[in-house]
Amino acid sequence: MIYIDKYEKALEYCTACPKLCHFACPASHAAAREAVTPWGKMSILNLLRKGRLELTFENAEPIHNCLACGLCTVFCEHHIDVGLILTEGRAWLESQGITHPGYAELKENFAARGHAARSDLDTVLRTSLKDELFNAEAEVVFIPGTRALAERPQEVVAVFRIFEILGIDFVACAPASLCSGHELWRAGLSENFKAHASAAASKLLEKRLVICADSEDLFCFDQVYPQLGYPLAERSRHISEFLLPYLENRGGLKRCDLSRVEQESSYLTRHLGRASASRRILAMIFNGEAKESGYDAAAVYPCGNEAAFAFACPENARGVADERMRQIRLAAAESIVATDAASAAALDGFKLSGETGPQTLIEILYRSLEDSDVRQP
Ligand code: SF4
Ligand code: SF4
Repeated sequence: MIYIDKYEKALEYCTACPKLCHFACPASHAAAREAVTPWGKMSILNLLRKGRLELTFENAEPIHNCLACGLCTVFCEHHIDVGLILTEGRAWLESQGITHPGYAELKENFAARGHAARSDLDTVLRTSLKDELFNAEAEVVFIPGTRALAERPQEVVAVFRIFEILGIDFVACAPASLCSGHELWRAGLSENFKAHASAAASKLLEKRLVICADSEDLFCFDQVYPQLGYPLAERSRHISEFLLPYLENRGGLKRCDLSRVEQESSYLTRHLGRASASRRILAMIFNGEAKESGYDAAAVYPCGNEAAFAFACPENARGVADERMRQIRLAAAESIVATDAASAAALDGFKLSGETGPQTLIEILYRSLEDSDVRQP
């Protein structure tokens, strides 16, 4: 049973607040509804919790309208973690028999294929990579990230080509079902999440190192699995953290003069505070100016496909991506570099004036390695 009253103090603060974080919320910006502001969502959860608002889906609906991006927390004097409390709020609602109809697909996808995507991602993986890269006995495993695999399957190919160039031959690719299941957790589908996490942890705890392409998987392994008794935090790395020492030893990356906007993941930057490796790699490749970057935590804007947002609020998810691209165009950069392929996937279809779309850190790194003069002995 979820004990939502443990957040009473924070919920009361928000309910009485003059909405200092109001302007910062991408979800309420996209929805253009007062009920979807952080103040609105927290006040509704508070009223539902206290029985002062009838417990119906219609009343609770705004609580699902959150990307858990953490931007409101940046501007909150009390540092209230609205994204986490609303996540717990959704789990509490689920325990009360109130869920979002959009999550039915999420449940079905996990039941059918063990991950959130509609498509059969294991077939995608098997057709993209050589059989020997799926060695189940390997001590180090790469989790490709289902959002990236579904939209940008070329990303996983580039990762293993980078490993090859750097002489890394001990990493195996995990099946798509070894994702963290973070979407289930964020949707408040606690029982489904626990079942998924138990199955995933039983395999991942056998590994020495778990390398994640998707920062939300990393966040979930680092922060949520330990709360269930699965100590994966110490052995989980972002792909940029894993690659950085190899790149620093090797040197000689082909450099690029374009200016860029860096689309960092709010999970890697704000929630985990672990964006230094990806920034260091970009600094090794780019001579051109960073027109906008996430070096200031308040500047990392989400892309719309974070958490379970796209299942509950697909139109608002597109609205968040539209707003992000508007900001990027204002920066007038020559390229967009996304730390995670999941972020690039959310912005796919958008182009800058030079007809360039979003690229990923991995794509750029792969090209830089391919074009460089230094070869492994
Ligand atoms: S998160 Fe902080 S600033 Fe935002 S409504 Fe709550 S108390 Fe106010
Ligand atoms: S976590 Fe992000 S989407 Fe959720 S209420 Fe805060 S600013 Fe809005």
